Amino acid sequence: MTVTEVGRCLLLSLVVLMSFGFDCVNARDQSSHAPEPSDWFAGDAHVHRGIGCSRSDEKEMLSPQALLEMMKPNNLAVVAVLADAGNGEMKYAEKDIPLITGKDNPESKPGRILHWDAEWHFDPSGVTFEQKMIGGHVIILGLQHGDSFFSEYTYPVLKWARDQGATVGFAHLQYLPEGIPKVLDCCAPLEIPVETALGNVSFLMEDVHGSETAIQAYYRILNCGFRPGLAAGTDYSCNFLEPLGTLLTYVHVPDRKLTYEKWVKGIAGGRTVVSRDGHNEFLDLKVNKTISPGEEIHLSGKGGT
Ligand SMILES: [Zn+2]
Ligand SMILES: [Zn+2]
Repeated sequence: MTVTEVGRCLLLSLVVLMSFGFDCVNARDQSSHAPEPSDWFAGDAHVHRGIGCSRSDEKEMLSPQALLEMMKPNNLAVVAVLADAGNGEMKYAEKDIPLITGKDNPESKPGRILHWDAEWHFDPSGVTFEQKMIGGHVIILGLQHGDSFFSEYTYPVLKWARDQGATVGFAHLQYLPEGIPKVLDCCAPLEIPVETALGNVSFLMEDVHGSETAIQAYYRILNCGFRPGLAAGTDYSCNFLEPLGTLLTYVHVPDRKLTYEKWVKGIAGGRTVVSRDGHNEFLDLKVNKTISPGEEIHLSGKGGT
């Protein structure tokens, strides 16, 4: 086991322990007190404001002001609001895509960053749209401008995003089954092994309620020597309208001066802790008193680990 691998195992142990409800610092009854250190920032990296999923009967898309209010229950510092840059199943994409500007939404408040980005997908089954593709749902963070287009596979989408400096990952790790997927469904991220091996994705994400197959899939990727970051989000409103941040991502921003760009870079760099229990618990981890998740430890020569 190399030192880097040890670091991965520590990070993953942290994730798994939290998934089983292990509390290191628990602020369940201290709503005004954040459980994380002051250089970590909690956010939801996967939110839709449009009409679809559990909001199919709604007439209006959520406003920035409504989203800001929805950040309060879990005291979120960041929310990535994702336009549907694919088949437009989440309405109305044409209203969301122009809000992708590379800048925080002007309604953002101190300590509450609202930022528009995109999710892209054309499902092989489960929706009635004519165009289909196999691959998965791509989460794109840090776009400078939005667009909507079809592709038969995910690579052109990843390239389009990376060409404008965005960070890309795959959502819905929780929909992967144990073993090799044998059926097509709407959302399973089937192309993650290839695109991760090619270095085209920077993070993988579990959302809605997460699952143990998500963590197993993430372990397999790490055990193959690849190191994408791990993120979590709600996929609101496709999460049965549970509060934003029910699944959330803590990102380490060492200088404490949070920006959306730093938050996204932290995800890509693996400087994250994820929670499936909202903004209630955080598992702090330091190796040699200073090394945090996402960092590497370099030892001289062989030694015990
Ligand atoms: Zn999706
Ligand atoms: Zn989504």
